[in-house]
Amino acid sequence: MTHLQRPDHLKPIHVVGGGLSGSEAAWQIARRGVPAVLHEMRPDRSTAVHKSGQFAELVCSNSLRSDDAEGSAIGLLHAEMRRLGSLVMHAADAHKLPAGGALAVDREGFAAAITAALEDEPRIDIRREEILEPPPDWDSVIIATGPLTSPALADAIRALTGETALAFFDAIAPIVHRESIDCDVTWFQSRYDKAGPAGSGADYINCPLTRGQYEAFIDALLAGEKIAFHDFEATPYFDGCLPIEVMAERGRETLRHGPMKPFGLTDPHRPAVKPYAVAQLRQDNKLGTLFNMVGFQTKLKHGEQVRIFRMIPGLAKAEFARLGGLHRNTFLNSPKLLDETLRLKSMPRLRFSGQITGCEGYVESAAIGLLAGRFAAAERRGERPRLPPPTTAHGALIGHITGGHIETIDAGPRSFQPMNINFGLFPSLASGVARSAKKPAICARALADLEAWLGKAALHAAE
Ligand SMILES: Cc1cc2nc3c(=O)[nH]c(=O)nc-3n(C[C@H](O)[C@H](O)[C@H](O)COP(=O)(O)OP(=O)(O)OC[C@H]3O[C@@H](n4cnc5c(N)ncnc54)[C@H](O)[C@@H]3O)c2cc1C
Repeated sequence: MTHLQRPDHLKPIHVVGGGLSGSEAAWQIARRGVPAVLHEMRPDRSTAVHKSGQFAELVCSNSLRSDDAEGSAIGLLHAEMRRLGSLVMHAADAHKLPAGGALAVDREGFAAAITAALEDEPRIDIRREEILEPPPDWDSVIIATGPLTSPALADAIRALTGETALAFFDAIAPIVHRESIDCDVTWFQSRYDKAGPAGSGADYINCPLTRGQYEAFIDALLAGEKIAFHDFEATPYFDGCLPIEVMAERGRETLRHGPMKPFGLTDPHRPAVKPYAVAQLRQDNKLGTLFNMVGFQTKLKHGEQVRIFRMIPGLAKAEFARLGGLHRNTFLNSPKLLDETLRLKSMPRLRFSGQITGCEGYVESAAIGLLAGRFAAAERRGERPRLPPPTTAHGALIGHITGGHIETIDAGPRSFQPMNINFGLFPSLASGVARSAKKPAICARALADLEAWLGKAALHAAE
């Protein structure tokens, strides 16, 4: 990666929050030759889920999801971010772990690499402090304080926007000590033996269930004691992150077609018998001592989690390093409040970035930080911020945030909701493309349009 020439005497851009989004935003600003001040409240003040003072801490799963840039929207976003000189992707690639078709990372190495890069960057001034409200003399600010924005700043944002923030649930999946998993019952295999970016094709531990075991498990989930709702949590779940017991409530077969689907897997202990359902665990740390239960986010009480998850064959003696939990998420009604470059329409010196804008996920949050940083730096340099084409994953994502919905939050159940990147956010292809060729065609179009957007000079800067 090479630096752009440093324009003299530019005032700094203030980035509030050093998570996935703020870290990437600060990096992009500095890479465009503009100084940034990065304000992060940790470690002095933490959130309910962060554990360290590191930048870009992954608070739950260690997976950045599929790395397939020809068949998945998130893999395409990865590829675009790499082209755009993303610090987050650079660190992810340097600290990847085996995980089938997914890009999983050693969470500590990943966050440490990002922290070191930001600390070593001379154009970034790091200040460990909570920002209660952006002072009036900060003329360019990126607020990237995430789903767990500190209450004081959340109040200030609410006062500024006049909007009531929304809340929905994210949920943490349990983590199991590998040595406590019964290898006489389970086996290592990635679905369809997919090797992926750092895998071997045998990266998941699979726990097979017969029909009877599956039915008993569903009964236990349905009957299991759950953590009571608080008043502030009384909002709908985000569909991409449903607790496992809520999925079971939606239909007894739902899990078999979701996180417990048995497809693409063969039990070597009983190759002639197809499991009725399969629970999968994925490596969670570099040492390979911890495995997380994929898709098993839950709001069951801790004691119930231990009892019910031990019903799964192979986990009868499971020791849990961490049990599942539930967390609140705060996000703006962005289509109404933000302009197309993520500035607050009523106060354009403030720009928002990351999950607080209504994207969902580590990678999406970092991608929006990447764009916010580039937009703010361009403005500071007296240039016009250039929007990515809507045919790119970045363009599709920002389109969802700033223009994807027209209803207001208060208009009813169809109001703006957070979303992961997905092919539904991309403009349609010209007719005549066969169904099976659509995803690769959307990806190819995106990467070609990204190249055209970058142009020669910008391409050089991103390398
Ligand atoms: C419990 C939970 C589990 C999740 N699990 C997943 C998952 O498995 N996979 C996934 O892709 N996404 C997951 N998410 C979503 C994930 O948090 C976001 O995708 C991502 O971390 C958001 O990035 P961000 O930069 O917007 O916010 P964050 O990464 O949360 O960063 C915000 C930063 O701002 C700081 N901050 C807050 N207020 C202030 C203030 N006033 N002053 C200074 N600093 C402040 C915080 O300390 C934090 O470092 C989860 C979220 C939660 C809450």
